[in-house]
Amino acid sequence: MPSPTAPTTEAALETLRRVFGYDSFRGFQREVIDHVVAGGDALVLMPTGGGKSLCYQIPALVRDGVAVVISPLIALMQDQVDALTAVGVRAGFLNSTLDPDTRRLVEAEFVAGEIDLLYLAPEALAGQGTLSLLDRGRISLFAIDEAHCVSQWGHDFRPDYLNLSMLHERWPGVPRIALTATATSATRAEIATRLDLTGARHFVASFDRPNIQYRIVPKREPRKQLLALLRDEHPGDAGIVYCLSRASVEKTAEFLVANGIDALPYHAGLDAATRAANQQRFLRADGVVMVATIAFGMGIDKPDVRFVAHLDLPKSVEGYYQETGRAGRDGLPSTAWLAYGLQDVVQQRKMIDTSEGDLAHRRNLAAHLDAMLALCETVRCRRAQLLEYFGEPATGGCGNCDTCLEPPESWDGTVAAQKLLSTVFRLDRERNQRFGAGHCIDILLGRSTDKIVQHRHDSLTVFGIGGECSEAEWRGVVRQLLAEGLLAVEGDYGTLALTDASAEVLGKRRTVMLRREPARPARVAKPRGAATVVAELPAEAAGTFERLRAWRAATAKEQGVPAYVIFHDATLRQIAADKPSSLAELSRISGVGENKLAKYGEQILEVLAGAD
Ligand code: ADP
Ligand code: ZN
Repeated sequence: MPSPTAPTTEAALETLRRVFGYDSFRGFQREVIDHVVAGGDALVLMPTGGGKSLCYQIPALVRDGVAVVISPLIALMQDQVDALTAVGVRAGFLNSTLDPDTRRLVEAEFVAGEIDLLYLAPEALAGQGTLSLLDRGRISLFAIDEAHCVSQWGHDFRPDYLNLSMLHERWPGVPRIALTATATSATRAEIATRLDLTGARHFVASFDRPNIQYRIVPKREPRKQLLALLRDEHPGDAGIVYCLSRASVEKTAEFLVANGIDALPYHAGLDAATRAANQQRFLRADGVVMVATIAFGMGIDKPDVRFVAHLDLPKSVEGYYQETGRAGRDGLPSTAWLAYGLQDVVQQRKMIDTSEGDLAHRRNLAAHLDAMLALCETVRCRRAQLLEYFGEPATGGCGNCDTCLEPPESWDGTVAAQKLLSTVFRLDRERNQRFGAGHCIDILLGRSTDKIVQHRHDSLTVFGIGGECSEAEWRGVVRQLLAEGLLAVEGDYGTLALTDASAEVLGKRRTVMLRREPARPARVAKPRGAATVVAELPAEAAGTFERLRAWRAATAKEQGVPAYVIFHDATLRQIAADKPSSLAELSRISGVGENKLAKYGEQILEVLAGAD
């Protein structure tokens, strides 16, 4: 506990160093903490990995009373409490998974002020029992984690979050801090209104994640492309692979397992016990690959996820950014990889056309998809485009995305576009027939397939006029025209159709610049993955790192906690590089706080001594 006279900032800094073992605050952590410690309300928007947790954990330790943390992540509360316990912070949680005895114990600790943080599920606040319990204790602050769950447009919407504005009415003197990694200003405004935080101070961080390398590649044989990525760049690394459907989650996981990758499936169709077991393994074991639908991921604070791969096109840039953001929380190099093809566009446009809801809703979905497509087809820096989308000015190329590393060529595709659109126009006149992209391309390439012969399409003037492009290139042309709204898909069979804008191209009033399809996948600048975490270490230190990792794995298993709760990779790497020879030296390494030093210090020094 800080001395009562210590200024806020000192007490906070002292806590950061002693308890968490970190030297200095990151970004505006210090400003947020000062504001909340002084009793102010705050709305904090920081990207995943930005360090939101400390923004409420340190005020919880500095202010008198118990901080009440509202979190939708029931399955992860135990881990959150374990991580705090590991640094010597007293915390507990109340949710439906607790047995009555434990519940009574935690309640008693809360009332007596024997813990500093209490995690609660939002639904708990709907019950009188919890409210009167809270009345009996002394609350230092309310932290509302994953605050975007209050947004009815988002896919994480939780109705119980709407109820949270009552915190302010019932406990007007208690400061509130709401936190989220969801970036758009629309969501931010919605959070502020619905949680009654319009008078709160807003802290908005840059959403850049410089350690994540963004890459978007044309989809050819997606599973094989994925396997190559895992083998070449991420051997032995933990990562997440997102697929759109449950079936493709299952198939992809089986494929990876058959190829020697430690992969597990996760989707809403699995029973709760299997889902929990798979999540548990992913969090606790080293190097597990989780193949999942987007049902997986919120609140997963595993810091060493080295890659996030998408095998299907995300529905929005928001979703893409949130999902890829789960990579590299520890700040070490990580990959965000997406394979995307013509079929993705056709399928998603179809899903929107047939989706329930009114026209406004479908327009909203279409606008989100268009922004995602624009990101896929851009010849600019991906990061610049992402940041601009979230309202941050771009600052030139980032040097760490595929378009910066291997600038794509663009070419004048106006004539190709005219040929394709003319073909679609001619087919469109056969009203009762439906022809998709494959058939159009066959016509352009002059292929006498059965279907072409049957419909006498070999007599069309456009038959065989497209020999200058390969089939893959034509698919690229179709995809990009769809992305730009110069072409549309209709109906159940993905029939191509003209749009109003098509006429501008056909009438030669508009040129079309296209991104050239790379002949082979973009290369990366340097080897990454498990190898990169130790890359800059001398060979001998790399050996020490491996020994420390083995010690950590055994210790984590013994205690039944995730490995990263013991120490992060970054901390182990620093220890391996510095080789501290005393507890005093060890205590200076980032991530080694008072409690961990006392608990593991001697063991670490033994591992180091054994390595010599
Ligand atoms: P978020 O909740 O914003 O995704 P976390 O709170 O989980 O991020 O923090 C991400 C990682 O950064 C964690 O491993 C955390 O321990 C570490 N971290 C946070 N603040 C600091 C700091 N000031 N110095 C060093 N590491 C930090
Ligand atoms: Zn870039």
